[in-house]
Amino acid sequence: SLTAGIVGLPNVGKSTLFNAITKSQVEAANYPFATIQPNVGVVEVPDKRVDRLVEIFHPKKTIYTTFEFTDIAGLVKGASKGEGLGNQFLSNIRLTDAICQVVRCFDDPNITHVENSIDPIRDIEIINLELTLADLQTIENRIAKVERKAKTTSDKEAKMEMELLAKLKPCLEEGKPVRSLELTEDEQVLMKMYNLLTAKPVIYVCNLDEEGAMDPESNAYYQKVKEYAAQENSEVVSLCAKMEEELSGLEPDERAAFLEELGISTSGLDTLIQKAYHILNLCTFLTAGEDECRAWTFKKGMKAPDCAGVIHTDFKKGFIRAEVYAFSDMDELGSEHAIKEAGKLRLEGKDYVVQDGDVMHFRFNV
Ligand code: GDP
Repeated sequence: SLTAGIVGLPNVGKSTLFNAITKSQVEAANYPFATIQPNVGVVEVPDKRVDRLVEIFHPKKTIYTTFEFTDIAGLVKGASKGEGLGNQFLSNIRLTDAICQVVRCFDDPNITHVENSIDPIRDIEIINLELTLADLQTIENRIAKVERKAKTTSDKEAKMEMELLAKLKPCLEEGKPVRSLELTEDEQVLMKMYNLLTAKPVIYVCNLDEEGAMDPESNAYYQKVKEYAAQENSEVVSLCAKMEEELSGLEPDERAAFLEELGISTSGLDTLIQKAYHILNLCTFLTAGEDECRAWTFKKGMKAPDCAGVIHTDFKKGFIRAEVYAFSDMDELGSEHAIKEAGKLRLEGKDYVVQDGDVMHFRFNV
């Protein structure tokens, strides 16, 4: 499964956020596949569509889909030069699919900052510089390998690769992430092979104090990060890690009451989960019945048999067809009977591209 790595400078609130994640971790009983390592937190993806299906079907069991975060400790300045735990840190990021960079946006004289002042953009640039330098090394090594081949042979692939490398290198030399480049689809496929750190999608997680988290739009630190994120097409989330940690320790109804009291509709952690899901091009299909209502994760663009395979490999192997309706129709009409009457139940074959929010029932041979 895909995972988002949590990174950031020391004392910005990473552990606090990660504690919030592990406290709200799913129970192993419902998710036996989740072999949980100490630095991995598996959380449910909140989904109002599941809640609505439960209202309609009153199932015995309700299961949300999950998302995984990995805590990546130990960034220091100079990581790309292999200082300290630097190399380990970078190879741990390499294993993730997206980066959640926690940025300190709270003042607290009792909690020292490694750079002795609060300046979120400087902090972001310290980290991004390390990632950029590490990628530059990767690219330079690759150029050393491919350059000769491209010059001395008529190897078309080597020539195409050199063209790509010639775009990546100056970008990184300017200190810009390669995700900011406009590349062709072929180039993007080729670039995947290098597993570049700055190719991974990023969410900047602004860790505000409680006051700031209630009204991030009037927080100057958050505004700066938001502008920075917009200019590189990255996502941004505001939250107060301490508050999230408290929230995660509460029972669902207490949690709802607490949020209501604060006048917020969604917790910052829930927003972070949803955004992480989104930047990784993940979608949800649903299954619904009296036994179980459940959400499942699939990658945007996947076809019906592959989605069937998300549930069980046998479903994919023996796939015949899928009976599908849109959640929005069920939300409106309120029963399977009404869906059929309205002609909203579709039969789809193996080429059907499953849509986010489809409620699926697979027919298969055993
Ligand atoms: P890490 O080094 O990035 O993992 O940071 P920690 O999560 O250990 O947090 C560093 C210190 O900042 C701890 O004393 C936390 O209690 C405190 N801290 C974390 N989040 C917040 C916050 O939102 N507001 C305030 N005032 N302190 C926080």
